Amino acid sequence: MLERTLSILKPDATRRNLTGEINACFEKAGLRIVAQKRIRLTKEQAQKFYGVHSERPFYNDLCESMLVGPVVVQVLEGKNAVLKNREVMGATNPENAEPGTIRKLFAESIQENSVHGSDSLENAKIEIGFFFSECEIVG
Ligand code: ATP
Ligand code: MG
Repeated sequence: MLERTLSILKPDATRRNLTGEINACFEKAGLRIVAQKRIRLTKEQAQKFYGVHSERPFYNDLCESMLVGPVVVQVLEGKNAVLKNREVMGATNPENAEPGTIRKLFAESIQENSVHGSDSLENAKIEIGFFFSECEIVG
């Protein structure tokens, strides 16, 4: 099924000028970048976006880590895009990520792990709506 998922290239990735290399991983895997913008998150946006993690011990650090530089927010489209993107990203902790995945190749740590990807179709719809209006997404 053709799906859309939200992807974020985190500040550790933009700082190291990895936008193109990471985007190449998506495109090689058959994911199409149908919307993309480089922005600076506000503290309020980061806190709201990661609201599901507000009880976790790393919540404040995680929100702060999203503010230290620009991020690239994107909509990826493709067959089973949600799961496909999770595969291409690799495990949250780069030490556990499969060879060839984005996090194995590029992540600096479990927190500075270069990319975010929606974890379900339901959350993908919510997260895409958080950053993009329908007219900004060109399939
Ligand atoms: P994401 O939601 O960013 O795609 P994920 O679904 O693999 O990643 P989650 O469990 O949703 O991982 O955690 C969200 C983010 O919080 C992770 O990407 C990582 O940056 C950070 N994080 C997760 N676990 C830890 C931890 N134990 N210590 C520090 N940061 C963590
Ligand atoms: Mg997650």
